[in-house]
Amino acid sequence: MKTPFVTLEQLQEIVKQYPTPFHLYDERGIRENARALRQAFAWNPGFREHFAVKATPNPQILKLLREEGCGVDCSSLTELMMSERCGFAGEEIMFSSNDTPAEEFALAAKLGATINLDDITHIDFLRDTIGTIPKKISCRYNPGGTFTLGESKEGFQVMDNPGDAKYGMTRPQMTEAFRRLRELGAEQFGIHAFLASNTISNEYYPALASILFQVAAELKEETGCHITFINLSGGVGVPYHPDQPANDIAVIGDGVRRAYEEILVPAGMGDVAIHTELGRFMLAPYGHLITRVLHEKHIHKEYIGVDACAANLMRPAIYGAYHHITVMGKEGAPCDHKYDITGSLCENCDKFAVDRMLPEIQIGDLLVIHDTGAHGHAMGYQYNGRLRSAEVLLCEDGSTRLIRRAETPEDYFATAIWD
Ligand SMILES: *Cc1c(COP(=O)(O)O)cnc(C)c1O
Repeated sequence: MKTPFVTLEQLQEIVKQYPTPFHLYDERGIRENARALRQAFAWNPGFREHFAVKATPNPQILKLLREEGCGVDCSSLTELMMSERCGFAGEEIMFSSNDTPAEEFALAAKLGATINLDDITHIDFLRDTIGTIPKKISCRYNPGGTFTLGESKEGFQVMDNPGDAKYGMTRPQMTEAFRRLRELGAEQFGIHAFLASNTISNEYYPALASILFQVAAELKEETGCHITFINLSGGVGVPYHPDQPANDIAVIGDGVRRAYEEILVPAGMGDVAIHTELGRFMLAPYGHLITRVLHEKHIHKEYIGVDACAANLMRPAIYGAYHHITVMGKEGAPCDHKYDITGSLCENCDKFAVDRMLPEIQIGDLLVIHDTGAHGHAMGYQYNGRLRSAEVLLCEDGSTRLIRRAETPEDYFATAIWD
């Protein structure tokens, strides 16, 4: 059973101020979850979460997470620019990109961000771009082969098997890269890997940590490099479906601690800091897409047309991802009607749900589409001239705050050349 973080009464007030559709975020949930993560890794003095900006690139969300002790993980120029404007600086910023343009390395270096190199050839590319190799540097590792641990079907679509994924360096390249970076003046080294997306398993991080800790101990032996941090990256998932169990971050943190004590401490590496780059886990459950029912249609199937569409939330259309839907005010009613819930794009994949059993829906009903706080608004686009919606923060005191206005036709036309 999934319960919205707003009541119908609250929502009826909120929609008077902000027309549907819009994304609503729960400040309390975001803060409590960020604190639980910090608590789970409190055993590691250097621990820091670098929120993956791409999941929810909203300045007010970033500032809120910064108050909770988070840094950021950026992978593009504009993410770096946004993070700088939100007050992030130096080691608070992790720059984990791939196929990186020179200007992005230049800005990352200027901000003092920790750069995570996706490929061995980027060593010379970085040096040619900024004229030096930073004292602190990280390399992204790809062990190849397959990796299956609690990954969802769509998680697999996001990441693929390591052996088929475009990211990172091979194991021999890691050794070579560390040696070369050291020759070029690097003093502090980090290791990063991202092997599976949206894992619903308390074992993913501990299993990944064991692999990376082992590699770290080997690299220390082989190269003599001083490894100061290990970045477990993203991939801890959330239960989109009400039948899925939630990950327990305290259990996950404890599992990583055990691997740390088994592998790193005996290797004389008990000072290594753990970093994470979670996006989905930090935000997904604390966002709702709020939409209103516009039409019902009875043809070969029963359709409910809403005022949001895939331009507001792309995941169901591109991954067939499940997002739970609550018909507000009908939480107790029997789910005895089978519907496709659609948006208005001229694309048949524009469906938030297919053959979903729900209570009987009336025109004008408000729907909450759950777990849209990460990779929701962020993946929005303007296809069919549909514009990106507003983002609203439900504050801890119950008030609301507009944290991004809806796009207007003027925004959409602004880049066109008319004459
Ligand atoms: C997308 C991404 C993340 C966040 O992934 P989630 O699945 O949202 O946790 C972290 N690090 C990098 C490099 C990414 O590309």
